[in-house]
Amino acid sequence: MADQPLVRRDENSAPTSQRRVIMTTCQAHGAAGFTNLLMTKENGVIVLNPHLANCCVLRLDEQAATMLHGILGEWLG
Ligand SMILES: [Zn+2]
Repeated sequence: MADQPLVRRDENSAPTSQRRVIMTTCQAHGAAGFTNLLMTKENGVIVLNPHLANCCVLRLDEQAATMLHGILGEWLG
């Protein structure tokens, strides 16, 4: 089942400037639809929350986030 588009704002979460939603797809769930990937920044930690469901939440500390940034920069040119 595909995710619903994000239309609400959670007033208790991080400020808008530290919340981003990226439209992706998920191979494991709902290959036919898109998956909202919520990215937030909490105390310097980057938090990746696919499906906005807290079912699997990745936390990237500064070192991991810097590594990801470098890899994406290299691949995207
Ligand atoms: Zn999924």
